[in-house]
Amino acid sequence: YQAKESGSRVMVYEAGKSPYTYERLRLEAGLREAVEQHAFEFYYQPFLRLADGVVDEAEALLRWRNRGQLVNAADFIPLAEEIGLIGRIDQAAFSLALWQLVRWQQQGLPYRLSLNISAQSVARKGALTELNHLVQHGGLEPHRLTLEITESALLHDSEEVRSALLELKALGVRLAMDDFGSGYASLAYLRRLPLDRIKIDRSFITHLGSSRRDEKLVRAAIDLGHSLEAEVLAEGVETFEQLRWLRENGCDLVQGNLINLPASLETWYPSQAVLGRLQLALAPRRPSPM
Ligand code: C2E
Ligand code: MG
Ligand code: MG
Ligand code: MG
Repeated sequence: YQAKESGSRVMVYEAGKSPYTYERLRLEAGLREAVEQHAFEFYYQPFLRLADGVVDEAEALLRWRNRGQLVNAADFIPLAEEIGLIGRIDQAAFSLALWQLVRWQQQGLPYRLSLNISAQSVARKGALTELNHLVQHGGLEPHRLTLEITESALLHDSEEVRSALLELKALGVRLAMDDFGSGYASLAYLRRLPLDRIKIDRSFITHLGSSRRDEKLVRAAIDLGHSLEAEVLAEGVETFEQLRWLRENGCDLVQGNLINLPASLETWYPSQAVLGRLQLALAPRRPSPM
C-alpha cells in the first residue's frame, strides 16, 4: 500500500491497482532528482513582429531531459508547483536565461528572451541580487529580459509580489502578463501593474476566422492592452489566416507553431525561407483578380 497525504486527506492506494499513482510517484522522484542533477534545458520559440516581419526575441520554455527523452513544461511544471519544487526550478531557469542573454550579447547578437516565472519566485530576494550582479559585472542589458507572469499567479499574491515586480522593473526588466483572458485579472489590478506586454491566451486565437465572438473578444483585448500602453502578443498562432487577421487588427507580435515550434538553441531562429513566407503573408494584400 502507498499512503499519500494531500491537504488534510490521506489517501491509500493498493499497490499495483493504481497505475496513475505509481506513475505519479515515479515522476515526482524523477523530478526531484532532475533538480539535483540540473537536468533542465531551454527550448526557444520565436516571436514575430507584425509591423516589419522581424524576429529578435524568443520565449524560453523549459524542458526536462529524462532518460534521453525531452519532457515538455506542460507535463512537469504543474507537478513541480504542487510539490513545492517550482522555486528551485525557477531559480535554475532564471540563471540559465541570464547567462544565455550574456552569451548572445558577447556574440553581438541582438536577441531578447522572455522567461516564465511563478509569482512566488519573483518575490525571491536572490533573483534581484543575481540580476544586479550580471548587470553590474557581466554587462547584461536588463531590458533584454522579459518576465512572463500568469494572471492567476498574480492574483493570489500580494503587495510582496507587486513590490518585487516594481523593483525588477526599476532595474530595467520588462514585464508581461501571460495567458491573458484565461485568469481573473480585474481592470483595477491591470492598472496597478506596469505591464510592458500582454499575451493573449491561445484559446482565444484558435477560432479567429471562424468565431465572430472570439474575434470581438480578441479585438477588445488588443484595445485593452494598448490602453494600458502595453504591446499585445497573440499566443498559439498556427495558420496564415490567423496571422493576417491579427495584423489587420493591430496586434503587435505573434508566437506559435506557424512561426516555429519551440526548438533548440541551434534551430529556434526561423530559416530565411520561412521568414520570407511569413513576410509575404504580412505584405498588404493586392486586390485579387475576379
Ligand atoms: P506558456 O507560457 O503559455 O507557453 C506556451 C505553451 O504553448 C508552450 O508549452 C508551447 O510549447 C505551447 N505552444 C506554443 N505555440 C503553440 C501552438 O501554436 N499551438 C499549440 N497547441 N501549442 C503551442 P510548454 O513548453 O509545454 O509550456 C507550458 C507552460 O509551462 C507554459 O505556458 C508556462 O506557463 C510553463 N513554463 C514553461 N517554461 C517554464 C519555466 O521555465 N518556468 C515556469 N515557472 N513555467 C514554465
Ligand atoms: Mg509563457
Ligand atoms: Mg502563455
Ligand atoms: Mg497559454
